Amino acid sequence: MAGDNLQEPRKRNGNPLDHGLLCIQKNQIWTLITDSLREQLLSVHGIGPETADDILLYVYERPVFVIDAYTRRLFSRLGLLDGELAYEKLRAAFEQTLPPDVEMFNEYHALIDHHAKQVCRPKPLCGACFLQRMCQWKGQSQTANLLTRP
Ligand code: SF4
Repeated sequence: MAGDNLQEPRKRNGNPLDHGLLCIQKNQIWTLITDSLREQLLSVHGIGPETADDILLYVYERPVFVIDAYTRRLFSRLGLLDGELAYEKLRAAFEQTLPPDVEMFNEYHALIDHHAKQVCRPKPLCGACFLQRMCQWKGQSQTANLLTRP
């Protein structure tokens, strides 16, 4: 029945909406295994790994860890990862380290983003950071602050 489709493809040949994902029945999409659903999302024009994982975690409630710029900045400053690593390597590292718990991934990601926005900013507020005792970057930021003081 047409009403059960997520969205009817509008045109053939090159329209990003003309995609298999959009033709999957609503009740079928929830039964797809996470890897298949991720593949479908990634094959839609304009959806990259971070957006696909946002959709998987927040819409479809799949245990997928979203890697964003805040995660890269915070964890690389802490010395826990190389922030230049490829998206998939970082995602795999988190997912192999943590139990596959959607609620926890959701909250963990929110806390990382909050901390990176409020404290571990591009110019970090290390004096106000509860992580400073375990942070490798702290010394660099203090040196930078000393060098920039009048
Ligand atoms: S100590 Fe500074 S650099 Fe390290 S995590 Fe905290 S705010 Fe970021």
